[in-house]
Amino acid sequence: MDNVNALRSIAEMPINLSVEQIGALQAGIKALQKQAERDKGCEYCNNEKVFGINFGGEKAGIAYLHKCSDGWGLFLEMDNGSTYYTDVVNCPMCGRRLK
Ligand SMILES: [Zn+2]
Repeated sequence: MDNVNALRSIAEMPINLSVEQIGALQAGIKALQKQAERDKGCEYCNNEKVFGINFGGEKAGIAYLHKCSDGWGLFLEMDNGSTYYTDVVNCPMCGRRLK
């Protein structure tokens, strides 16, 4: 049983919990779910999905994450032909630590 399910089953047990205790459990479940989502990553850092870059509401280019031999990079390809590359440690979309 993972942590989320363990906490949830505690929250559902027919014992007398105060409103505060239930609230604390629910907050704990939420935090763990968020953590689990972050650990899983998103389509951008798992599948190197391309996302658009907008400046002032106008499409200005595309960006994607790519794992290089020396770590993760964020590549930007602007519509004006410029390209940029920067090292990234965390996914800019979901915050997962890239490795
Ligand atoms: Zn991500």
